[in-house]
Amino acid sequence: MTSDPLTFPDLPVEHRYQTLPPAFYSQVSPTPLTGARLVTFNQSLAAEMGVPAPSTDADREAWAALGAGERLLEGMRPIAMKYTGHQFGVYNPDLGDGRGLLLWETLGPDGRRWDWHLKGAGTTPYSRFGDGRAVLRSTIREYLCSEAMHYLGIPTTRALFMVSAEDPVRRESIETAAALMRVARSHIRFGHVEFAAHHEGPEAVATLIDHVIALHFPDLADLPDDERRRRWLEAVVTRTARLIADWQAVGFCHGVMNSDNMSILGDTFDYGPYAFLDDFDAGHICNHTDQGGRYAYNRQPQVGFDNCQYLARALLPVMDEDDVRRGLRRYETAYNERFLENLRGKLGLAAPEENDLSLIMETYSLLHEHRVDHTRFFRGLSTLDSRGPDPVRDLFVDRSVADAWLERYQQRLARETRSVEAREAAMCAVNPKYILRNYLAQQVIQEAQNGNYQPLEALLAVLKRPFDEQPENERYAALPPDWGKHLNISCSS
Ligand code: AMP
Ligand code: MG
Repeated sequence: MTSDPLTFPDLPVEHRYQTLPPAFYSQVSPTPLTGARLVTFNQSLAAEMGVPAPSTDADREAWAALGAGERLLEGMRPIAMKYTGHQFGVYNPDLGDGRGLLLWETLGPDGRRWDWHLKGAGTTPYSRFGDGRAVLRSTIREYLCSEAMHYLGIPTTRALFMVSAEDPVRRESIETAAALMRVARSHIRFGHVEFAAHHEGPEAVATLIDHVIALHFPDLADLPDDERRRRWLEAVVTRTARLIADWQAVGFCHGVMNSDNMSILGDTFDYGPYAFLDDFDAGHICNHTDQGGRYAYNRQPQVGFDNCQYLARALLPVMDEDDVRRGLRRYETAYNERFLENLRGKLGLAAPEENDLSLIMETYSLLHEHRVDHTRFFRGLSTLDSRGPDPVRDLFVDRSVADAWLERYQQRLARETRSVEAREAAMCAVNPKYILRNYLAQQVIQEAQNGNYQPLEALLAVLKRPFDEQPENERYAALPPDWGKHLNISCSS
């Protein structure tokens, strides 16, 4: 008899979420997929989590069976979480995990907590009209982007592994089913608090936020009620504001910033029709069902605040109104501080000046008016001295426009005291050379749909080192080809 490759006797397992009142979840078993194959496994993440990666075919089959929902590991107790939330500004009381299950929580060797959430595991009591499935296309997109964000240094959920299966799934066309083992510090969303407040009552809100504080804000846990809650809200609002300032800095458009997609810990959460900007368009809308542009790139900072307001409103049953208001006020300050810090970093300005904000705004106007590639522009600036101005100038149809801006920029740089080498190194460490352009994702998806996962692995390897020069991978830093410029990304996933 061979032993089960998926027994981890030393892995600490918990089910802390299930200590919440029963209204917060339903016990649900996965509905198995057929013919599942393990197609990608995140070895370095597994190591961080203290989980042995598969090394034999038998291991891979065992992981595939877990991903397919055919089997559970000893100790897993799957549940679907209940939450609600505001979708495109409208409150929806019927939400919850409609296709994902929380299997267990584990603790890594460094004590970090990991929720294991199997996305695409079949229907749950919260599926509404959905089939409980995830398709290969969107599963790859989530896998790629969560890893890309992590290596850009932006807080995010992660991807442990994915399986593809044979089951057909109906979307706009028939697609292949897949499932993702998404892992995160927590899967609790703003929408959990909204659910508690609007359906369960003050005690449920208090229990929920104390749960979050106990697990994720231990420094606050022993404070008196009022102070604990006030400081916790301030922390959540601050993290959310900083997260969105970080998105703006890399040109990330989330696409579906509903309050059920906002992590209570300020992690980037739920990757759907997202996009990284190619040529800069401040009003870029990446979700083709978002006709009004509610979640356009330049509206994200405001939407982050709106979501904090939904959260704040849900806290009123257990918090003093003035404390809630004070918490919300943190948003603007935290956003502005982080934004300025990020943009000074991107422009290589180490010695702050009063006028930096106007230079920043002028820069954005320039990028927008001339539809300049966001990533290549800032990367080009990062090597202005060592490589000369051409990488920047070449992004402009009219080089004289670039020259005029560069002249003003050089005057500002002249007042910097850092060495050129130090400035370039610092700028290259914040201005990525490689980002997950939509067309790159599209290419690896097409290959994967034909059964070839090598391009996906190759792209993941590039995205692990977004700030490094990778001469052998130069093509991944190229401008998008014409066909890849304005891909219409469907919200259906
Ligand atoms: P999303 O737009 O992916 O954040 O999903 C919004 C809500 O719809 C969440 O509650 C999901 O669990 C649910 N949902 C999305 N797709 C499906 C599906 N195929 N089957 C069941 N529920 C789904
Ligand atoms: Mg969601």
